[in-house]
This record gives sequence, C-alpha cells and structure tokens, in this order.
Amino acid sequence: MKDKIAIHWFRKDLRLSDNPSINYLASFSEPVLFIFILNEESSNRYIGAAGKVWLHNSLEYLNKQISGNLVFFKGWPLEIFEKLIDRFDVRSVSWNRSYEPNDLESDIIIKKKLRQNVDNVKSFNGSLLWEPSEVLKNDSSPYKVFTPFYKKGCLNRPPPRQPVTKKVKKIFDSFKSNSLESLNLVPKKKWVSNIKNEWKIGEEYAQELMNSFFKYGLKDYKEGRNFPEKKNVSRLSPYIHWGQISPNTLWYNVQNLEKNNDSNENIETFKSELGWREFSYYLLYHFPQIINKNLQSKFDHFVWEENNEYFKLWKTGKTGYPIVDAGMRELWQTGYMHNRVRMIVGSFLVKNLLHHWKKGEEWFWDCLFDADLASNCSGWQWVAGTGADAAPYFRIFNPVTQAQKFDPTGNYILKYVPELKNLPLKYLYSPWELPDELCDQLNFKLGINYPIPLVDLKNSREKALNAFSSIKKK
Ligand SMILES: Cc1cc2nc3c(=O)[nH]c(=O)nc-3n(C[C@H](O)[C@H](O)[C@H](O)COP(=O)(O)OP(=O)(O)OC[C@H]3O[C@@H](n4cnc5c(N)ncnc54)[C@H](O)[C@@H]3O)c2cc1C
Repeated sequence: MKDKIAIHWFRKDLRLSDNPSINYLASFSEPVLFIFILNEESSNRYIGAAGKVWLHNSLEYLNKQISGNLVFFKGWPLEIFEKLIDRFDVRSVSWNRSYEPNDLESDIIIKKKLRQNVDNVKSFNGSLLWEPSEVLKNDSSPYKVFTPFYKKGCLNRPPPRQPVTKKVKKIFDSFKSNSLESLNLVPKKKWVSNIKNEWKIGEEYAQELMNSFFKYGLKDYKEGRNFPEKKNVSRLSPYIHWGQISPNTLWYNVQNLEKNNDSNENIETFKSELGWREFSYYLLYHFPQIINKNLQSKFDHFVWEENNEYFKLWKTGKTGYPIVDAGMRELWQTGYMHNRVRMIVGSFLVKNLLHHWKKGEEWFWDCLFDADLASNCSGWQWVAGTGADAAPYFRIFNPVTQAQKFDPTGNYILKYVPELKNLPLKYLYSPWELPDELCDQLNFKLGINYPIPLVDLKNSREKALNAFSSIKKK
C-alpha cells in the first residue's frame, strides 16, 4: 500500500512561520513531505551567483529546522510531481506562489495536471501584502504611479492578511533525499566565504534583525535611511526576497509599534517602503515586459553607448568617483548596497556613462543577495527614467554633492575606499581637486593611488541631457 502524504513545495517562502501553505496543510492528518525544486530552465532568469549562495545557506538552515527532512530536487516540477504521485498516495499539494511571470504561467499548467490525481491542490499568496490582480483604478486599468497605487489602491483595500503560524501534524520522514550539495548552488570561489561574512542566513536571524531594527534603527528611519553610514535601514531585503520573513509579519509588527510610539512618520515611511516593493511586483505582474524592455517605449530609440573598459571599471569600483566606487565595492564585498548608493551608482552608469540600464541590472542581479526580478528591474528603470513613476531624464545625481550630503563624515566612503584615508575630508569627495602641494605632502598621486575620474561630470551631464532630451520630443 502506498503511503498517504501531503506535499508542501517550498519556493521563495523559506520559512516555517506565517507560511499560508503550511498553515493550510496543518489541518490535514497525512504527514507532510517538504520539498524544494531547483528549476532554472523554465524560470525567467537563472539565479545570480550571490542569490545561489544565499539560497544554499537558507536551504541548509531550513533543512535543520525540519530535522533533515527537506527533500531536494532539480528539474521541471511537473515531472517531479508525477514521480511522487506514482510512488505515494498524494492527498494534498500546496505552495506559496512566486509572482515571476514564468512561474505564474507554469503554475496554471501544474495545478491543472495535479488536480487530475490529487484531491486538494492549492496555491497561496505568501509574499505580497496585496494581490496585484485586485488593485486597479476605477476604470479597471492598472496604476502606473506609486502614490495613488499605494494610497488609493492598496490602503483603501481591506488590510493585508494577519500573520498566523501553524504546525503540521507530522512531517513525512522516510524519503531519502539527494544532498543539498547535489544542487550545485555554491560556486567554488574565495569571494563566496567573504561575502557571507556580514550575514547570518536563516529564518531566526530575519526575526532577530527585524526586532533589533525596530528597537534601534527605526527611530530615525525617515531621514536616516538616506545615509549609508547610519544603521537606519533594516538590511532585511535578502530575507524578504527569499521569504525568510513575510511582509505581513513586518507590516503588523511595525504597525503595533504605532500605539506606543511617537515616531509615527518613521513607521509610515517604513510601511511605504514595503509599499514600493509591492509596487515593483505590481508592475512586474501587469507589465511583465519590464524585465527586458523599457516600460516607456519611447526610450527604445535611445542610442546607448558601450565601452567595455568603462563598464569594467564601474563594476570593480575604479571610476575615480569615491561614492560610486564605495558602492560598487560594498556590493562585491557584502552582496548588498545601500539604497541611496544604488541610485547614485545607477545614475552614474546610465546617465554619465550612457550605458543601458540592462547592463547594470544584470551586474546587480549577479552580485546582490537580495537580487529580485521585480525590484531590480523596476529600480533600474526608475534610475534610467524609462520606467513607471521614474526619475525624470534630467535628474542626474551628482556623485560629489550626493556624497557630501549623504556621507558627511566620509566614513562610508573610507570603509570601502581606504586608499583615500589620508585626504582631508574636503577632498575626499573629489580627490582630483587636491592641490599639488598637498599631493606631495601626502604622497598621493592621482592615477597611481586612486583612479583619475573616468569622465568629466559637467561634460557627461550635458551630453546626457542632450541625448535624453531628444527622446523627450518623441
Ligand atoms: C537600481 C536599484 C536596484 C535595486 N534592486 C533591488 C533588488 O534587486 N532587490 C531588492 O529587494 N531591492 C532592490 N532595490 C530597492 C532597494 O534599494 C532595496 O530594497 C533596499 O536597499 C534594501 O535594503 P533594506 O532592506 O535595508 O531596506 P529598508 O529601507 O530597510 O526597507 C525595507 C524593505 O522595503 C523594501 N524596499 C525598500 N526600498 C525599496 C525600493 N526602492 N523598491 C522596492 N522595495 C523596497 C525592501 O524589501 C526592503 O528590504 C533596488 C533599488 C535600486 C535603485
């Protein structure tokens, strides 16, 4: 006789708490088989290198949480389910949806097939506060501007689902799984152990980070979130992306602080940043072309430049602009970059160097622990001015004044660009202005100790304004 089982399919919901699919299976008596399927072929993107490192470590942690009973597969999910159905009496299958376009499409096929053999087949929303298909304007078209989307569209709807955690009655523990290593997720590079240094990967650490951020970092979030040196951002993005903490848990935990707190504007700002994440997924859902194409098609005529040498220097943090270089090195060394700096390095690549936003998007995709199809594509389209509610083409971040304003102590720059440590603060933001006598005194030679700026800010800005204004007329 075949064993009766239920199956929970882990996707980007690598947690046991507030997991709607697990909550659903908790009401059934069959033991639950927990599976993870690495399915790159039919997804929109191969997971980037940093993403794989995060995923590997997350799966290792999750497997420990369920006493080594997580079963790993590689391949097309439907085939794997068919084999499981041959072998077991599968009574229920459920999962939390991934809202990437190819995953949504294949879910329809998988559900239809599974329902021929399995009594209960269900998918849930475990990663978004609001269902993108339900938030529409009065004329039933999708929003394209953040504020009305969030304020009229989301906040006027019934509030998000409250977080709930249930345990399944029994875990199915008699399946001999392939090892996690067989998924071959971790590249054999020294870089891997380095980027992990600053992170503890796993559900429990996401909860810890949330609690400590709400206790210490949230107080000055509205202002402090702009300063990369300050500890006023949560750094929760990789955990949110991989589902180690649900947005609902964050939403309600931060909301609960409202009652006994006088820093409501910080709380509201934090909630609205979660709203920006919703907006990114919303755009991906309604305009899936944003992955590869300009949302505003008039930019399709724009002639981008391609200079491999410049691109390499941007990637490796050797542009000669300290805040840009600090950001790019932060990314390489930690798998993360502060939001303000993402905007600065992005603007520099797209506007001062006139490179296609896709180039930057792909590099971020490979290097970010939080690399997220929705937020990365919409973030880059925002910077380039090609997206919805995007920065206008004439907003070109000046990397010198941005650094003076948002890294006034210079500590962020110096953390990643230590070769500038002897420069007086005044020249830290523009080392090429260091007077000759100071250069001699400090034994500092531009071009030897630190790169000569790749492009002149004024000229490259004018060139970009001219190039972009030709699009404006289209
Ligand atoms: C060019 C560019 C690329 C980006 N790529 C990604 C990406 O691949 N993955 C990613 O998660 N975010 C991306 N972002 C958005 C943002 O930079 C990060 O979410 C944020 O820096 C994460 O840090 P945090 O967790 O400390 O943020 P916090 O300030 O603590 O914010 C809390 C959470 O809100 C969400 N959030 C905050 N700001 C944004 C935003 N602007 N857009 C969408 N969600 C937001 C994130 O889930 C974040 O973890 C990108 C932004 C830009 C400009």
